[in-house]
Amino acid sequence: MNKKKLPLAFWIFIGLVVGIAVGLALMMVPNGLDIAKNYILPWGTIFLNLLKFIVVPIVLFSIASGVISMQDIGRVGSVGGKTIVYYMCTTAFAVVLALVLASAAKGMHIFAAMETSGLAYEPPAGQSLMQTIIDIFPSNPITPLANASMLQVIVISLLVGFGILLVGEKGLVAAQVVDSFNEVSMKIMDLIIKLSPIGVACLICPVIVENGPKILAQLVAVLAVAYVGYIVHAVVVYSSTVKALGGVSPIAFFKGMAPAMMMAFSSASSVGTLPFTLECSERLGARKEVASFVLPLGATINMDGTAIYQGVCAVFIASCYGIDLTIGQMATIVLTATLASIGTAGVPGAGMVMLAMVLQSVNIPVEGIALVAGIDRIFDMGRTTINITGDAACAVVVSKMEDRKVARTKSVLG
Ligand code: ASP
Repeated sequence: MNKKKLPLAFWIFIGLVVGIAVGLALMMVPNGLDIAKNYILPWGTIFLNLLKFIVVPIVLFSIASGVISMQDIGRVGSVGGKTIVYYMCTTAFAVVLALVLASAAKGMHIFAAMETSGLAYEPPAGQSLMQTIIDIFPSNPITPLANASMLQVIVISLLVGFGILLVGEKGLVAAQVVDSFNEVSMKIMDLIIKLSPIGVACLICPVIVENGPKILAQLVAVLAVAYVGYIVHAVVVYSSTVKALGGVSPIAFFKGMAPAMMMAFSSASSVGTLPFTLECSERLGARKEVASFVLPLGATINMDGTAIYQGVCAVFIASCYGIDLTIGQMATIVLTATLASIGTAGVPGAGMVMLAMVLQSVNIPVEGIALVAGIDRIFDMGRTTINITGDAACAVVVSKMEDRKVARTKSVLG
């Protein structure tokens, strides 16, 4: 199996390198950005559209079939409980890490002050927490699918899975239909994934042409702090949990995840990367029924990279305004960034919108987002990579824990 898969990872990597090289070359050409946007990006957009097209069926059928194949509601509860605990704890850790790193950088005067007068950023109209909760529950079965409202799609798919489990015998046909559509969606996804080296090259190239000149020296510092945070989090949290709880060596884990990580890096979309995340984590030993439940959920609610970005940017923007954050404010940031990362959609740029909520919660001027908005894509590529790696680590860990639980029950019964 490895033999078959390795070439794809290799070709995706080549796609990434070619895209970056062409992007750098186009920076020297007078109309480089136009060429990249008009002739290269469209192919990347087609690839991304195909991924988006298949994501709703994948989430719908894979969560439902995951629930059905667990065969009893108690097991769904056990997997779901572990998943939520893993997601929440790692995300909270991510924000704390970001705050520590960013405060250290600020203490070492690594964050250069930037001009803040005349900044403008209009935060989107917020909505109450209650409304956000209400919006998770769909009022009809079609709109969430058409609008790709992922949290609502997850609710539909859980309900369908529960319904089928609870009716027993009579649900057999429905279960087979879900299973069969799940297989078909996975096959379509497989076909689309084959295009990924080209897609990756065409997506990354315009990013390089557009952002290359914009990365001013001051912003390099905050970018570097965020990337150090991403890397430390992955190395410390994911390596240790997949090793200790999942029994997978960290090197094998990151090697196995490489195709998905490269896809996340170039697409900046957890949801778009979901097909890759599913495939890579199953190859790493995550059980199919667990992965198909944990990963779509994670692509929607688990965003450690986004949480790190929000923590770092909050400290950076505060320091640009000459604000020193108190411990109380930092605790508030941990809470709001954890919640904000749950509410962040797995699409490019969503984390920056949610940063407004984090800043507002501690009275940092929201206009400060304008300082980092120009290079958001560069932050986004890294945070999305971490987001999906965290989802996969959880799938591996929960699968192993479930296996151990089953083995224990068997040995008690036997
Ligand atoms: N692009 C990120 C993702 O899809 C979300 C974000 O903007 O932070 O995971």
